[in-house]
Amino acid sequence: MDVHEVERLLRARRCSLTPQRRAILRYLADNDTHPTAADIFEAVTADFPITSRATVYNTIALLRELGVLSEVNLPGTEARFDPNTAPHHHLRCVRCGQLTDIPTDRVRLEHDLPGEVRSASVLFEGVCEGC
Ligand SMILES: [Zn+2]
Repeated sequence: MDVHEVERLLRARRCSLTPQRRAILRYLADNDTHPTAADIFEAVTADFPITSRATVYNTIALLRELGVLSEVNLPGTEARFDPNTAPHHHLRCVRCGQLTDIPTDRVRLEHDLPGEVRSASVLFEGVCEGC
């Protein structure tokens, strides 16, 4: 996520760039931890204690609408957010729960599916390098 590009998109939409919104953008830029909305709220309130949950949720919705933030939904967990909107896969560590991005060129997918497949994302489960 390029913060300057996102700020430009927000200005073009006449969305105000409040300090809280900037803090959310700063937190999400290059963030590869796949935070939940609660994680984002916690990080931003460390700098701006008056931030409301609504501000965080609205900003997440806006960033998703702009196509600069994607939602990662995994079975059995709350939604997580990913500023990496390029196609990629994930590895979930069964020990620490960490979600790691896996570039698509590291996975070869063969399929025999009807119709035209336009995208695919795979969730691998295993043990991460750190564990
Ligand atoms: Zn990811």
